[in-house]
Amino acid sequence: MTSRSPLFPPASPLSFPCDTHTHTSRCGHAGGADKAYVEAAIAQGLAAIAVTDHVPLYWLPPDRDDPTLAMAADELPRYVDAVLALKARYADRIEVLLGLEADYVAGHEETLARLLDAYPFDVVLGSVHWLDGWWVDAPSSVERYRRGAVEVERIWDAYAGQVMAAARSGLFDVLSHLDLAKKFGFRPGRPFAGRQAELVAAVAAAGCAVELSSAGRRKPVGEDYPAPDLVQELAGAGVPFVLSSDAHAPAEVGWGFAELAAAARAAGVGEVVVFRGRRGRRAALAPAG
Ligand SMILES: [Zn+2]
Ligand SMILES: [Zn+2]
Repeated sequence: MTSRSPLFPPASPLSFPCDTHTHTSRCGHAGGADKAYVEAAIAQGLAAIAVTDHVPLYWLPPDRDDPTLAMAADELPRYVDAVLALKARYADRIEVLLGLEADYVAGHEETLARLLDAYPFDVVLGSVHWLDGWWVDAPSSVERYRRGAVEVERIWDAYAGQVMAAARSGLFDVLSHLDLAKKFGFRPGRPFAGRQAELVAAVAAAGCAVELSSAGRRKPVGEDYPAPDLVQELAGAGVPFVLSSDAHAPAEVGWGFAELAAAARAAGVGEVVVFRGRRGRRAALAPAG
């Protein structure tokens, strides 16, 4: 029997080091048990998969809890136990990473820090979905974007500010869907309402990785996160990347990774990082061949 280094899967030229962003039925808006995602990752020839269900809505009062958005607060310990059990069970077939997609909400950093410290996460994704009391990416928010160009500029400006604050908070290993505000296709006159260079500098200075995510291609905007020019600028600033599908169904694990990798290479990106115990290790974007 040959031993297999998790970072260099020998099996298939289509295989990749890790899918760093996946959701399970626990989130209330994704389908499939965590085991099905792990099995899908094995079938895809991935070396690792991070299970990254949404953090409980820790910044909202309990009566604002919404089981269609995230697991309830009391479910978090069970989530951790379940993923750790999968990690042990599949250890000889694939590396399962205990992750979490955690919202950044200004003013609630200490609460989140305590929550993250309580568990042995491998990777914590930082996301800005909540912006001044509304959801950036909820279909019900489209009407805001439709208010016109001035409002679209205002949204992007506010969103940029929160993403930079998330980067500087030191709470996150990876920043998710960096240009999420484009989801419904509403773009400002200039990228990030003129704040893209400032944003790239902030992310690079903070030392966060950024995910290359195929999820945007499955959304109205029809474009990976981040946009190609932004990937190029981030790469130029030395920002490391991870590969993500943001799968909400087992069939989406590793979705679009070949195209994602091709685009990354075109932007000069030749490697990604895989997090374990919240430390990143470099891995080839895909095995040669
Ligand atoms: Zn997200
Ligand atoms: Zn997600």
